Amino acid sequence: MSTPNYGVWRPMAENVEFNALESNSNAVMAIADTVRTTLGPKGLDKLLIDQAMNRHVSNDGVTILLSLRAIHPVARMIVQIAERQEQLVGDGTTTAVVMAAEMIKDGKRLIKELGVHPTKVVEGIESGVKHACQILQKEARKIALDDNALEQIVKTSLSSKMDGQKLSSLVILALRSVGKAAMYNGSFDFDKSIMVIRRTNMEDRVVNGIVLERKRMDPDMPVELNHARIMIVKFDLKPVKESWLKENSKYQEILNMENDRLVKSKEIVDTMLATGANTFLIASPEVDQIVEDLLASLKVFAVRISTEEIEYLSRYTNAKPIRMIEDLKKPDILGKADHVIEDEDNGVIYIEDGAGRNMVTMIVSGTTKETSLERWRAAIDGVNAAEAALNEGIVAGGGAAELHTIEKIKNLRLKGLEQVGLEVVISALESIMRQILTNAGFNGLEKVMAAKASSDGFGIDIDSGEAVDMWKKGVLDPVLVKTMALQAAGEISKSVLRIDRNLAAEDLSPQAVSETKR
Ligand code: ADP
Ligand code: MG
Repeated sequence: MSTPNYGVWRPMAENVEFNALESNSNAVMAIADTVRTTLGPKGLDKLLIDQAMNRHVSNDGVTILLSLRAIHPVARMIVQIAERQEQLVGDGTTTAVVMAAEMIKDGKRLIKELGVHPTKVVEGIESGVKHACQILQKEARKIALDDNALEQIVKTSLSSKMDGQKLSSLVILALRSVGKAAMYNGSFDFDKSIMVIRRTNMEDRVVNGIVLERKRMDPDMPVELNHARIMIVKFDLKPVKESWLKENSKYQEILNMENDRLVKSKEIVDTMLATGANTFLIASPEVDQIVEDLLASLKVFAVRISTEEIEYLSRYTNAKPIRMIEDLKKPDILGKADHVIEDEDNGVIYIEDGAGRNMVTMIVSGTTKETSLERWRAAIDGVNAAEAALNEGIVAGGGAAELHTIEKIKNLRLKGLEQVGLEVVISALESIMRQILTNAGFNGLEKVMAAKASSDGFGIDIDSGEAVDMWKKGVLDPVLVKTMALQAAGEISKSVLRIDRNLAAEDLSPQAVSETKR
């Protein structure tokens, strides 16, 4: 076997690499090997080091893949698909990569050793993946917010993470606190209702409400406010621009403008206050110092926010963002929150008991920036797993659901060579449990055989090595994570197996390609 090729790719033999399948599949194996040992609760961490010797320890598939420097173009495809998996379901990336590697390894064997045509293998993979997904979906059990299974899902998802136990209690508290308020059009969307922020040296906490990582505009403003009447300001708070003053050379005109600036700023502030608002969340493009000083001297609470923050602040408080000063005359523009307070030591502002839709914020801490980042990612994984589980249902974890799909898929009668391609998917379905157990120090293959001989839902206890019912043990996974990972793996392997030559090409940048338009 040639050496793993993570390095910069150079086509061999001048411009053409005839043995592309070999080279490409080696690249996939190499990349899969970098993450496969992280799979499962006993998976190991990786130490990432960059050129400046910055270090980061991670157990997270995507983080590791994304941080690899120069890699083979085919391996880059894997990284992209893993990234997409992360975006779509937020978990199961290592699973996807391990299955992809297995499909490619087995597919290559069929093509090289048995002479099966790649298109047949690809067809087999396609139908195998489709059927496996259908079987998994049919087996999936529905769960509700208050089911014990929700806790088990979160715990399973966080079992391989640093401090997973503690984090899962935090995630579950957040999920249950926000509850049904996270439902949109019949399904849960926790992105809209659980914010996760990362801090160093703060306590882990779930706050009922919004935590802004900001300070109030001026230290003269009150630190705390009860019964806040909130205005979200989007319109320009700078009536006279500095550039106007700079561009003008006539003393009298400058004086007039300065005077204007004072009068207009005061007018604006007066109209804002006339609405009864005492708390201003300001997302205006510019704010005149005079406006700021006036607000401070009037002892109202004001804080700068970004335009991205408007949406959820508005949803949480019921305040309608004011885009034009004329809109201040409209009714019901103000939002409410019972309590607004700045924690000056930590530089955060709590907005609690809003009048709008319920939201919670998880504060995830760490002693260093690195640990807080890794814990923050893990917490989000846990929330994503719960969302997928609530929306689509759950299956037995530890690779058990995948393993027991095999018997059912074998019963499918596919025509001719397609049946051969199906074997490829079967090896992938087996690989997850094998890898999890290998990582736990067992003879993976032997244990997989034992689990296979047991009933549906049975896997191997990671500590004792005995066959156990994963449902009883509470090792459970969202079915969506499994089906998405299978599909991602299928896609990668299909593209890799179809390629028979790697060719050195001229400029392939999107721009160049669109110019030739062929
Ligand atoms: P991924 O990046 O694919 O999410 P993880 O390292 O998070 O990889 O591992 C997920 C796998 O670990 C899932 O298949 C899950 O069922 C399995 N797993 C988690 N906890 C256990 C456990 N206690 N026993 C066996 N398998 C477990
Ligand atoms: Mg995971």
